[in-house]
Amino acid sequence: MRKIKFIVVHCTAGSAQQKTQDIFTYWKTKLGWNSPGYHKLVAADGSVETLSDDEVPTNGVKGYNHNSIHICYKGGFDGKDTRTKEQKETLINLVKQYKKKYPTAVVLGHRDLSPDLNKDGKVTKADILKGRGVIKRVGGSIKKK
Ligand SMILES: [Zn+2]
Repeated sequence: MRKIKFIVVHCTAGSAQQKTQDIFTYWKTKLGWNSPGYHKLVAADGSVETLSDDEVPTNGVKGYNHNSIHICYKGGFDGKDTRTKEQKETLINLVKQYKKKYPTAVVLGHRDLSPDLNKDGKVTKADILKGRGVIKRVGGSIKKK
């Protein structure tokens, strides 16, 4: 079994109505990915699609994929929290299931692993320090780029 350190929650940053096939096309043609960005994808009605086996790393957060599970909800366009009541329930259930499967894993949002934590568009010293704080909490180490 993979050693999972992070359970990372994402949004697609697109429309909640976006078709999963279109998301796959975007990954393949625009980003050049041959594997999906997430393990689970939650639609607006709360239904879940499994995009990858838990044992296979996906492309959720560069540098953290080997030891992360990525869960994503459809929506979040323009930085807004567009989760429906159904999506919130499903996300909670998924996180609970994964916490049972990987009890030592830490639950984070994608932004918690972003090097640009203050969103000023630059990776500044403050961002790196905040990033280290996250990593320190879970007993890992920052990888040099
Ligand atoms: Zn993300």
